[in-house]
Amino acid sequence: MARIFNFSAGPSTLPLPVLEQVRDEMVDYHGSGMSLIESSHRGPEYSEVHEQAGKLMHELLGLGDEYKVMFIQGGATMQFSMIAHNLLSGGRKADYTLTGTWSKKAIADAKLVGNVNLVFDGTEDKFMSLPAAADIKASEGAEWLHLTSNETIGGVQWQEWPDVDVPIVCDMSSDFLSRKLPVEKFGMIYAGAQKNLGPAGMAIAIMRDDLLEKCNRELTAYLRYDIHADKDSLYNTPPVFPIYVSKLVLEYLKANGGLDWANELADKRSGLIYGMMDQHPEFYRCPVADHCRSKMNIVWRLPTEDLEKQFIAEAKAAGMSGLKGHRSVGGCRASVYNAMPVEGAEALAGFMDEFAKKHG
Ligand code: PMP
Repeated sequence: MARIFNFSAGPSTLPLPVLEQVRDEMVDYHGSGMSLIESSHRGPEYSEVHEQAGKLMHELLGLGDEYKVMFIQGGATMQFSMIAHNLLSGGRKADYTLTGTWSKKAIADAKLVGNVNLVFDGTEDKFMSLPAAADIKASEGAEWLHLTSNETIGGVQWQEWPDVDVPIVCDMSSDFLSRKLPVEKFGMIYAGAQKNLGPAGMAIAIMRDDLLEKCNRELTAYLRYDIHADKDSLYNTPPVFPIYVSKLVLEYLKANGGLDWANELADKRSGLIYGMMDQHPEFYRCPVADHCRSKMNIVWRLPTEDLEKQFIAEAKAAGMSGLKGHRSVGGCRASVYNAMPVEGAEALAGFMDEFAKKHG
């Protein structure tokens, strides 16, 4: 078996021991004579998995009982719309930060439903920087503040959290579970599963009771957070396979040291790659401001687009895939999520060094 280093932005690499366990359990789950994805979502095998996934999420993130963990289909994009309908309808107002492609989409959906006030707009700066967290203030009448903790395409990441007197609602799709959080600041945390958690096909939505109480009850059932929370994500058939794999990923994370471990590895991997850019400043250029460089999605340019193409092709031939920047911005991008082995970052840094020496 030859596993490559997969630097894709999502779906992305998952821990090998988890994939192996899924393989081993696939055909006959724990002696039940069938796979988990063939068994009832209300049966004992799946119920245990479902319960554990929620418990582990609480435990790893340090969430109290006032936070409800929901597994919802439709990805993070569905959350943009659910958040708007649940928390902005009826003339309500929220603050948003416009920091890149993903917050832009969240804002576009929110504007269709309620009042959106931008407390930061990075458009002019081409989204290559974030403001100091301390400079973010909630505006008059805004009920909550929306952040995108990590912009997957632009490669900017909040390293500190604003100190505001309203709850933060945060899209953590691309850095979920990669560091400890001051959870009390957050009224809601949501993330598409397919980066740091598991297979594509669902989002995780964590909402605190005070926000749940404010959710619009005059929506069709599947859009209502209060129903998902009351029914423990079993109002309808949940995405059983993504939840099952996520549970295994959470167990793996816990066994290895939880969020401190994840954070330590993120520092190592990103340090290796940014460090290599610093060693060849004439050749590699990171467009992102130092204070907000992402530890999950690292972006950089080479002197010409031809060299970028060559870099990406040769890296692929050397067993490193997914290094092409998003089609909207070009350049190179390495997504180094929790499951990327440090050896992957070492291999990439080594390759960058050689390539720069050859072509610089
Ligand atoms: N937010 C962020 C930060 C993302 O990176 C993505 C997907 N790459 C999304 C939202 C949209 O997620 P999904 O594809 O699960 O709808």
